Amino acid sequence: SHPTHAPRPSPTLCHLHHHRVTDQAFVTLAADDVYCQGALVLGQSLRNHKTSRKLAVLVTPEVSSGMRSVLSSVFDEVIEVDVLDSADSVHLALMQRPELGVTFTKLHCWTLTHYSKCVFMDADTLVLCNVDELFDREEFSAAPDSGWPDCFNSGVFVFRPSLRTYNLLLRFAAEHGSFDGGDQGLLNSFFSNWATADIGKHLPFLYNLSSSSVYTYVPAFNHFGRDAKVVHFLGATKPWNYKYNLQTRRVMQDGTTSGSFHQLSFLALWWNIYSASILPLLEKHQKMEDSE
Ligand code: UDP
Ligand code: MN
Repeated sequence: SHPTHAPRPSPTLCHLHHHRVTDQAFVTLAADDVYCQGALVLGQSLRNHKTSRKLAVLVTPEVSSGMRSVLSSVFDEVIEVDVLDSADSVHLALMQRPELGVTFTKLHCWTLTHYSKCVFMDADTLVLCNVDELFDREEFSAAPDSGWPDCFNSGVFVFRPSLRTYNLLLRFAAEHGSFDGGDQGLLNSFFSNWATADIGKHLPFLYNLSSSSVYTYVPAFNHFGRDAKVVHFLGATKPWNYKYNLQTRRVMQDGTTSGSFHQLSFLALWWNIYSASILPLLEKHQKMEDSE
């Protein structure tokens, strides 16, 4: 029976909760085995919070077959994307610009046209609760970048797969490049009216909370931070670069890693998922390989 103080979930909500939406997906990218660790924790965090959407991960040819099979136990789809699999002139022009390599790889998410709508999330993000309501948003929705808030951060965004958009993006990349050398500069130039056109396409910062800005605006974090929905470990040091003590369940800090208490608690959350759910998968797979 329901406790008297808790409202019964409405029939509609119940229905939504159990309904699996097969034409929408969360999409991430792992260009190498190291970033696969992030993708696995992200995928597991989406599963833990019972997403009703599909999970897809883009991998490059560099990702090992062992990692792919571990990825496929968390994700519904592991999709290889290859820079060289198409030979039109735009691809050729882009291949003259190796600095756009990773950028190019992320753009492949627009080719997933078996989905009507997707949410892209960097492999260094982690969901803290169910965020399926992001699918109520339209292309192109994203949260402000903490470094330059008139730009969006491209670590979390809502988009509609479309080969037309994909080709326009490739052409734009070949013609204009990227002002920051990465996907974020390119996407901000392409979706250039994001800052001014439609506030509905501004995701709350809580959907892409960069761990570094938690540090730079502590009072805001103390006031709003409890409602954080997605943490983004952006910057050079990723969660998997830290050391973690499996016995004490603590992230270890040496002289080179500094962080606020909140950064550390998000790191600990990442490591909890990694040690509880991902390490056993990796070990199980290793055992299977050894016995072959
Ligand atoms: N990425 C990857 N391997 C790399 C660099 C980037 O797989 O060596 C992918 C991964 O999905 C990552 C995203 O590209 O989350 C964007 O890069 P990153 O998160 O490192 O950039 P930041 O958010 O720190 O600016
Ligand atoms: Mn990132």
